[in-house]
Amino acid sequence: MKTIATPHKILESVFGYPAFRHNQEEIIDQLLKGKDAVVLMPTGGGKSLCYQVPALCLPGVTIVVSPLIALMKDQVDALVLSGVKAAFLNSTQSSGEQAAILQQLRRNELKLLYVAPERLVGGEIPFLRFLQEIPLSLFAIDEAHCISQWGHDFRPEYRVLSQLKEVFPGIPVIALTATADSLTKNDIIQQLHIKDYRVFENSFNRPNIAYYIKPKKGYFDVLIDYLHAHLDDSGIIYCLSRNATEKLAEDLREEGFSAAAYHAGLEKNTRDERQDLFLKDDIKIMVATIAFGMGINKSNVRFVVHADLPKNIEGYYQETGRAGRDGLPSEAILFFGAGDVMKLKGFAQVEGNPEQTKILLKKLDQMVQLCETKNCRRKYLLNYFGETAPDYCGNCDTCLTKPELQDSTIIAQKILSAVYRIKQSFGAGYVVDVLRGSNSEKIREEHKSLSVYGIGKDKAKEEWMHYTKELIHYGYLKPSDGQYPVLHLTEKSKDVLFKGEKVYLSAPVQVTIAKEPVIYQQHDYQKPLFEELKKLRNRIAHEENVPAYLIFSDSTLLDLATYLPLSHDDLPKISGFGAFKIEKYGRPFLELIQEYCLEHQLSTQIELKHPKKLRRTGVPKERSSDTKRASYEMYRAGNSISDIAEQRQLAVTTIETHLSYYITTGELDIHEFVPEDKQELIAAAITKYGRLSLKQLKDNLPEEISYGEIRMMAAYSGR
Ligand code: ADP
Ligand code: ZN
Repeated sequence: MKTIATPHKILESVFGYPAFRHNQEEIIDQLLKGKDAVVLMPTGGGKSLCYQVPALCLPGVTIVVSPLIALMKDQVDALVLSGVKAAFLNSTQSSGEQAAILQQLRRNELKLLYVAPERLVGGEIPFLRFLQEIPLSLFAIDEAHCISQWGHDFRPEYRVLSQLKEVFPGIPVIALTATADSLTKNDIIQQLHIKDYRVFENSFNRPNIAYYIKPKKGYFDVLIDYLHAHLDDSGIIYCLSRNATEKLAEDLREEGFSAAAYHAGLEKNTRDERQDLFLKDDIKIMVATIAFGMGINKSNVRFVVHADLPKNIEGYYQETGRAGRDGLPSEAILFFGAGDVMKLKGFAQVEGNPEQTKILLKKLDQMVQLCETKNCRRKYLLNYFGETAPDYCGNCDTCLTKPELQDSTIIAQKILSAVYRIKQSFGAGYVVDVLRGSNSEKIREEHKSLSVYGIGKDKAKEEWMHYTKELIHYGYLKPSDGQYPVLHLTEKSKDVLFKGEKVYLSAPVQVTIAKEPVIYQQHDYQKPLFEELKKLRNRIAHEENVPAYLIFSDSTLLDLATYLPLSHDDLPKISGFGAFKIEKYGRPFLELIQEYCLEHQLSTQIELKHPKKLRRTGVPKERSSDTKRASYEMYRAGNSISDIAEQRQLAVTTIETHLSYYITTGELDIHEFVPEDKQELIAAAITKYGRLSLKQLKDNLPEEISYGEIRMMAAYSGR
């Protein structure tokens, strides 16, 4: 197709970005060739640029169909702030306003027009007919899953889009969504009648979001600590009930936080007002039910907290996905307690529909498994959505605090004996009560005379629960299915009880959440200046009556506070400063930075700004304090594993575990640790037995192959 500018030029000069992300460039190329595209990209991935850039490369107007009226205004405001001629058309406008926009269209004065799907059909002259008379470049269908009955958000109005290809056979179509399984995806293609298309899929991984799951008991104090450390950040706290949001918001306000409640039971005015204040950073914390968030485009949400357990993984992922759309490090924190599980199991009972009940319970169970897994949370999530993922992400609580396994044979024997003595007929809570010698009426009289009754008084209930779950995790106990699972022994546990096999379990750990927001750790930047810049941005936002993040994202301000541009010429190097924004806002920001640098005797750091191809996020950085790294560095410096163990006062197995991590990352070569012939043997055993139990592998391999070698190969095969 005839173009009037190249994509790169537009990206840099209008949007101020140095490089395309993911497969944006390929997608844009596809459209500029006049062909169609189906784009699956996670929230925050950068879908909008996929049609905004071609819209500016092509001579006519691009029509963007979007179901969310609130989002439309936001997007148009953002474009206008970058100097792009854009407008929207929906039912909130007067007929006069609408007529003016149609007039602009006729004169080819607009580059992008956002319309609600119902607007395509309605009106005096059918809109599609009207469009036949003006020069069109492209159709973009946002939230394209809405066209499909298989999607979770079917909108009948979207069906009109089936006519697009018939009426405009020569105009390329791009369909975009963040949520589509393969059924929905194929339906989108079919409904739109597109033929010469390509599907562009991206990983749904959100590398800049760190996942934490913490015990719910006593969570309020933990939450308060967390919020104190994040006073300058925006966040959402999700609760299950309307009442809970009101109460928690009230409690937080009493503690001095800027918080408001949001739920569907509030007047529309109140909701709109609070949402607006939140978007403008005048309210920092929104305590909300899941009614809040659909169509919220706010890019600088730094944390999403779940005070209550979500019903399923889909909901959890969608809600946590609202954090960190700007790509900066953000956190998702869930407080998990058994009480919530019981409550939600109750809600999952759909009267007269056992099938549906079963599905809901299964989804809930998968949610619980995410909370209880000892393995990488991100891996669990991605696997759930059908993607593969490495065992270690380095940016979730389990990866960051992988506990070392300890000899826990005695503890295991106590628990397993108790299960055995009460005839494998009770759940974990009961077993622990017996161990702790509980006087509760629940405990049957005959169990009070057992030898195991009261032998576990030395440990807290939570600790016993932890070890019981560990035993389940490692296959020493198996819970039955159903609402009240009963614990059964397994072959493995019989070896412990009757053959004296040793058991290694992880000790309970208190997961600590990084107290300082992670951005402080990744950048050496001027915090006071960053805060000043935010204030300046907010002032401008108020004057122009738009949300602050539309003026500049947090990551742009962070760039300013890091690289301290002092002259006009430095500004294009800052991500997010397009030509229009430099003209419009460059000066006040420059002046503020100049003043700050003068006062603090700082010089510019702009020469440190890399030739910009480097993305800031991506593979999550490890903490510099990471103990693994220390071992790795010593190893690289020529120390043997046993030397390192001695110097660091750690077990040899610990050092091996540390180093095995760098095999998974490819920084260490497996050949350094395991000779070729042994590699083959171990690999074969892993194929046969899996790599969960090193002991099982060891037992099934020749004597001369060591645990260390097996551990390394297990890591290698899990890359
Ligand atoms: P989505 O619609 O996929 O949820 P957006 O299109 O809103 O995501 O993009 C999320 C954020 O990422 C926006 O602030 C956008 O400006 C920014 N962004 C998109 N593409 C790039 C890029 N190539 N370089 C830098 N920032 C980008
Ligand atoms: Zn992880």
